[in-house]
Amino acid sequence: MSNTTELPKIAMVVVAHPDDAEFGCAGTMAKWARDGWAIHLIVCTDASGGGADDFEDISDVARHHITVTRKAEQRAAAKIIGLREVIFLDQPDGLLAPTPDLRRMLVRHMRRIKPTRLLCQSPDRTWKPIYAIGRHHPDHLAAGAATIAAMYPASQNGWDFPELLREGLRPHKVRELYVMGAPEINHFEDITDTLDIKIESLRAHASQLAAHFDAIEKRIRDWAATNGKNYDVAAAEVFHRTEN
Ligand SMILES: [Zn+2]
Repeated sequence: MSNTTELPKIAMVVVAHPDDAEFGCAGTMAKWARDGWAIHLIVCTDASGGGADDFEDISDVARHHITVTRKAEQRAAAKIIGLREVIFLDQPDGLLAPTPDLRRMLVRHMRRIKPTRLLCQSPDRTWKPIYAIGRHHPDHLAAGAATIAAMYPASQNGWDFPELLREGLRPHKVRELYVMGAPEINHFEDITDTLDIKIESLRAHASQLAAHFDAIEKRIRDWAATNGKNYDVAAAEVFHRTEN
């Protein structure tokens, strides 16, 4: 069982885009926040590609407008959930890659925030029962890969990114890892009491979801109930959880 209960209640959540965390783990984040956890959300991209597929104005002005709108929506969602802060790494949307530069940015925040818990997207694709096209956005895979590489070994190893150590950012060992959308699920969080907060936090992402929010709400509630059924609770979010 976990030996991390006496450690500081600090969590860091890393995702590619605004609304990724709300879809995957808002119920869990709201629950942890109620339990006294300080949760820091890192959004890797600038979200500038968040327009409709058939959008015709893809100018820099349009992209900037989407970025500004989606950041405001993400901050509003964070407030609803009770997050401590939201940090945007402003990497180009749609082009995220698990580069050493992205890893360094994440290590910088890990060493500054000193989280006990880390939650991120899966770097791996799920092929069973069938490959779901929309489920594995390349930015999500990249965010997951960069985050796990930043956690181990770079955050805890002063020999990695020595320039960070020279800045005074000392190595920090993250103790728990939660991966959403992982091919192997071994952990659930009961979100019965925070499912409504999850729905409200998703509603904050109006530019992406407002046009068909009723259908999204139904899908989210069905999904939470289906996950919950496997664990005898009314609603759940599921993860692969491991300790470091
Ligand atoms: Zn996304």
